[in-house]
Amino acid sequence: MTDTATLAGLDPAILGDLLRVTGSTGFDRWRDQVRRTGGCANPIHLSGWTLTKDKTTGETLHRYSTDTEPDGRLRVACGNRRASRCPACAWTYSADTYHLIRAGLAGDQDKDVPVTVRDYPRVFATLTAPSFGPVHNRPDSGRCRCGVQHPPEDDALGTPLDPTTYDYAAAVLFNNHAGNLWQRFTNRLRREIAARAGLTQRELKETARVSYGKVAEFQKRGAVHFHAVVRLDGPDGADSPPPSWASVQLLSDSIRAAVAHSYTTITVPAAADQPARELRWGTQLDIRPIRAFDAGTDITEQAVASYVAKYATKAAETTGTVDRRVGNREVLVLLDVPDHPRRLIEACFDLDALYPDRRLRAWAHMLGFRGHFSSKSRCYSTTLGALRQIRADYRAAQQREELGLPDPDQDQDPTVLVLTDWQYAGQGHSPGESILAASIARDLQLNRETAREALHDQLVLEGVRS
Ligand SMILES: [Zn+2]
Ligand SMILES: [Zn+2]
Repeated sequence: MTDTATLAGLDPAILGDLLRVTGSTGFDRWRDQVRRTGGCANPIHLSGWTLTKDKTTGETLHRYSTDTEPDGRLRVACGNRRASRCPACAWTYSADTYHLIRAGLAGDQDKDVPVTVRDYPRVFATLTAPSFGPVHNRPDSGRCRCGVQHPPEDDALGTPLDPTTYDYAAAVLFNNHAGNLWQRFTNRLRREIAARAGLTQRELKETARVSYGKVAEFQKRGAVHFHAVVRLDGPDGADSPPPSWASVQLLSDSIRAAVAHSYTTITVPAAADQPARELRWGTQLDIRPIRAFDAGTDITEQAVASYVAKYATKAAETTGTVDRRVGNREVLVLLDVPDHPRRLIEACFDLDALYPDRRLRAWAHMLGFRGHFSSKSRCYSTTLGALRQIRADYRAAQQREELGLPDPDQDQDPTVLVLTDWQYAGQGHSPGESILAASIARDLQLNRETAREALHDQLVLEGVRS
């Protein structure tokens, strides 16, 4: 828990609240509740009751009410996936993404993805944005164009050398269309694959399918790029082996051709002072084969899965922008948003009236990007929803057991009547509770990471993993 060194630096008011919480009679139960949310930083509070009655005798078999809970409330996890809003729930989301990507890479019998996908042609591809003007960087040669050798943590990195000539409008329009560009890319990719295999589009559908899982990430300059695992499956997806012509080489060549093709370009019409623009992917394209075992320069499944999961929770906030919708320009000053992201957000405001259907103002806090941070094609692997369901089922079963409730799956028994009434009673923590919840989250995360590493070590010993 919280050690004395941290307590010493605390605001006396927060310390007072911390002592109040830990000294209260309901503290053990409160800690239990918060542990169950994974140490959620902003839990939702519910008040209410459930009652299980025997229909025939009218006898009450079980009753649970939040009346006996601390403050008369039950706390449930907020489920926010942004690390700046709730590190605990974001961690859970990232762990889910890890399992999702990993299942698509390595197969997972528990989640209905056959282990044979490991033999299918697979690559890890990174599609980037083009240049919108020179930015401060750390080239291999050492010195940035501005003459300075920037340290790795320098805030100047990724910001324009000359903000007056940087094309902010193009930068946010690119982010805004990134999802559409991805769509075009995947459409074109199918054509490129078909052409290389000497098939028509229809024939391709009958013999192979392209599956992918992808995540969006913001580069420091505030441009979206995509990391994707692209896999060639048989016609029924992961369950069917790919045809004999399917190879990593063919897949890589097709990706390269699809990215460069003129179809993978979107024209944004001229409007007022804005010229017409051709939006396309940047020339920086990284494609790496994925092998099940470490073979020199190729990357392993494990590395890809953790890399992708890490970025799933890193939203636009890593570029210094804000983590919620921005109402007006004044807020940017109040929130002390750094110059570069502020200019990007303002570009969204400025362009909003010119391209109303692009909803740039609504997505200004995402620097124009309106897509999801992680998504996948239908056949890639198990879904995040399915994983959440597995975990929710597990938690519900645990709770039922504790409360002595019957299992609803087995309970086709019409003799039992369950009545419930739940109400929203608020959200969040008091300052003292926040500190305790954060330490609970840290402990849980540490435990789970240790468990994950132990499993990995064991698999290495068994020779299953590299
Ligand atoms: Zn949460
Ligand atoms: Zn520089």
